[in-house]
Amino acid sequence: MKNILLLPGDGIGPEIMAEAEKVLHLLQEQAGLAVALDYADLGGCAVDASGEPYPEATRAKARAADAVLLACVGGPKWDNLPRAQRPETGLLAIRADLGLFANLRPAHVMDALIDRSALKAERVRGLDILIVRELTGGIYFGQPRGIETNAAGEREGYNTLRYSESEVRRIARVAFEAARGRQKRLCSIDKMNVLESSQLWRETVAAVAADYPDVALTHMLVDNAAMQLVRDPRQFDVIVTGNLFGDILSDEASMLTGSIGLLPSASLRDDGVGLFEPVHGSAPDIAGQGSANPYAMLLSLAMLLRHSLQEESLAWLLENAVKESISQGYRSADIVADGQQAYSTTAIGDAVCREMEAALARSV
Ligand code: NAD
Repeated sequence: MKNILLLPGDGIGPEIMAEAEKVLHLLQEQAGLAVALDYADLGGCAVDASGEPYPEATRAKARAADAVLLACVGGPKWDNLPRAQRPETGLLAIRADLGLFANLRPAHVMDALIDRSALKAERVRGLDILIVRELTGGIYFGQPRGIETNAAGEREGYNTLRYSESEVRRIARVAFEAARGRQKRLCSIDKMNVLESSQLWRETVAAVAADYPDVALTHMLVDNAAMQLVRDPRQFDVIVTGNLFGDILSDEASMLTGSIGLLPSASLRDDGVGLFEPVHGSAPDIAGQGSANPYAMLLSLAMLLRHSLQEESLAWLLENAVKESISQGYRSADIVADGQQAYSTTAIGDAVCREMEAALARSV
């Protein structure tokens, strides 16, 4: 029996989490999925209940869980609190506390939604990229860092970009493994023409490649990669890169898919424990209206099934049910085409469950 911790969070969080729970209950009852579900507060709701965005009770449950499913946190109500009490601080704290060093962000263009992409349809049809970003090292964490006054009396800000071989090796392995389950192509992105840390990154990734002869490895400079993602994004299968470059490139890639309500993410560590969450925020502007798009939440659950529970066929079943529901016209207001009907969060969750039930019945 695996333990899954559910963190509904703030804003539209409880509304979209309710749809993920429906799917989990269906899988428990009809597909024999052996999971125990538990709940806790993170973000603004936790601040309201206990004064802290990542309280001890949540920390204890998160550390004991095999996987954590998070909706989203934040909202104007908590915007003016001191940094330690901000909902986003809770988000950073849980990621750091669980030691999640690998961030996986798929960017997939579904045919039914091709018109939503920021690029022309002919450039993105069939696009399916996975960006693997190192999440706990690099310039966001390197020491020394700070703002100091220099000898000339002027203030200077500085940060340190530092990667050890072992840090690069472990993220490279995650990316090679992911590529193995896909089209077996991995592009490592760096800036080795000017940065020593990138030189070591490139050498280390190339050395790890010896263990993955079935995966074709290429290297690309980050400035070129930013351009290629817009010029010809379908050349990529899996991308692996450091924290800073990954932060920027994954946001760029997300625009290729057109809607933030469709993008899931996973943050993993070596033993498969992971935190799974939509890329979007708590959408306070539409919270409580029952109109939020639950697809990114459901696709995050699919990633949980695949990466933390090793339930590849159930992950595929859920992803396929999402695609089918979108093709059948079950779209929320943010992805609806002109003149089409917008469905509620609940109606979309129900449609996905019906698809899954039908697929499970066919497979018996
Ligand atoms: P946002 O992603 O919440 O919203 C941006 C826009 O996209 C809004 O118009 C919103 O209505 C829409 N949107 C987002 N998700 C949607 C969905 N599932 N269905 C339909 N429409 C959706 O970003 P923001 O407005 O910049 O931030 C709002 C709050 O969320 C802030 O407090 C921010 O700090 C927080 N935030 C949290 C996370 C997280 O929990 N991981 C990420 C980003 C922002």
